[in-house]
Amino acid sequence: MKFCPKCGSALIVDRKERAYRCPRCGYEESMEGGILYQRSTPETDKIVVVGEEERNLRTMPQVTIECPKCGNNKAYWWMVQTRGIDESTTQFYRCTKCGYTWREYT
Ligand SMILES: [Zn+2]
Ligand SMILES: [Zn+2]
Repeated sequence: MKFCPKCGSALIVDRKERAYRCPRCGYEESMEGGILYQRSTPETDKIVVVGEEERNLRTMPQVTIECPKCGNNKAYWWMVQTRGIDESTTQFYRCTKCGYTWREYT
């Protein structure tokens, strides 16, 4: 079972296209390992725009969570309130080892 590195949902196996697909955010990954498609939304852009948080990274709390990229089990985390219809809070994680950033809805 593979999980989406963007939203954490279980990926669906598409045998015909030989790819994994996320039913939640549209993330796709080929079985050979390359990313086929990533839906570009204003929300995903926010992952890149974390300058404010980045400056404070050293004082950020760390949690024990497995990095989907390198398997390291420690990551910084912080919350961002998204101004959407539901005003949900998005939890961000950044791997302390490789710097990979991903998010999770709470
Ligand atoms: Zn996803
Ligand atoms: Zn990592």
